[in-house]
Amino acid sequence: MWANAETPFSGPARPPLQPKRHVITEDYKVSKAVLGLGINGKVLECFKKEGGAKYALKMLQDCPKARREVEMHWRASNCQHIVKIVDVYENMHQGKKCLLIIMECMEGGELFNRIQDRGDQAFTEREASEIMRDIGKAIQFLHSMNIAHRDVKPENLLYTSIRPNAVLKLTDFGFAKETLNNKSLATPCYTPYYVAPEVLGPERYDKSCDMWSLGVVMYILLCGFPPFYSNHGLAISPGMKKRIRLGQYEFPNPEWAEVSEQAKQIIRHLLKTDPAQRMTISEFMHHHWINQSKEVPQTPLYTSRVLKEERETWHEVKDEMTSALATMRVDYDQVKIKTLEESNNPLLNKRRKKQSSTAGAAYN
Ligand code: ADP
Repeated sequence: MWANAETPFSGPARPPLQPKRHVITEDYKVSKAVLGLGINGKVLECFKKEGGAKYALKMLQDCPKARREVEMHWRASNCQHIVKIVDVYENMHQGKKCLLIIMECMEGGELFNRIQDRGDQAFTEREASEIMRDIGKAIQFLHSMNIAHRDVKPENLLYTSIRPNAVLKLTDFGFAKETLNNKSLATPCYTPYYVAPEVLGPERYDKSCDMWSLGVVMYILLCGFPPFYSNHGLAISPGMKKRIRLGQYEFPNPEWAEVSEQAKQIIRHLLKTDPAQRMTISEFMHHHWINQSKEVPQTPLYTSRVLKEERETWHEVKDEMTSALATMRVDYDQVKIKTLEESNNPLLNKRRKKQSSTAGAAYN
């Protein structure tokens, strides 16, 4: 398939998802311990009966949207930086058909909590580069499969364990979207030259949402606070929306004084206000600051200290990013649906010309 041509680390494609129909309790012991709360309910701890290994269980009410989420997450589970789904069950629960998703258990918690909780040793620019490379790998994998995640944010970036060699992974496909919805476009016999740019183009908007997220996460990694603030304590105020739209953010001192110009340059390209101008994942992965992490200076950053000082307001930062992403998804969906007046299609223009000339003739 052409879409996978530049994915260096995709293993063999996963077999198609076939949810198991027998009851989950035949294979797993589900505990009452809650690992996390999501918009769709609790994520619970569970143990495989055979061998006793620990997993995380997410439960979704069965519907076409939930099926799409699980299907995309299943296909993406091949990537080393995406939380792996190991099993899916289709069971009745309290009279309703449910999808039960068994995932690897991410015992290391969220990305920024780990940086916040570290001891005296300062978090460095080189470490930030390594983290961004890992998140980038997850996004590169998804975009090459024509999936936009559209919800890349701190609470969806989790570590496998609390050990130093833990791996950072992306999860939660609740807003993921296939960017080539016309299946025939993905078939090898299809000739791209014959398709209007509007048909191929819109996918960039969905993907560019992930690139904006990368910019915000990278900014926070390098200083400990987000680039855009809401002034009124609202999750997203009109002022904040305007600042995002106008790209109004700064690199204030002292936090940014020692950060490399290369890193700031990437952030500027990721936070470009026009989604069409934003850096693509391939440009990001090819950037020196990302693919040559070992050459990035080990400059100590303010990040850990700021995150500790701002511990109380961290949930606001998360809420703001959640709302900004929600707004962006809606805005980009609207951008894509052009009205007839806005369309600039040659056939339509020809028709318009013809109509106006015949209308003119009628008046003469
Ligand atoms: P929702 O889509 O309902 O928001 P998420 O998939 O984001 O649900 O999960 C909600 C929370 O549960 C996460 O923020 C995280 O704290 C926890 N969680 C999710 N998946 C795992 C996992 N595989 N291992 C451990 N904790 C998890």
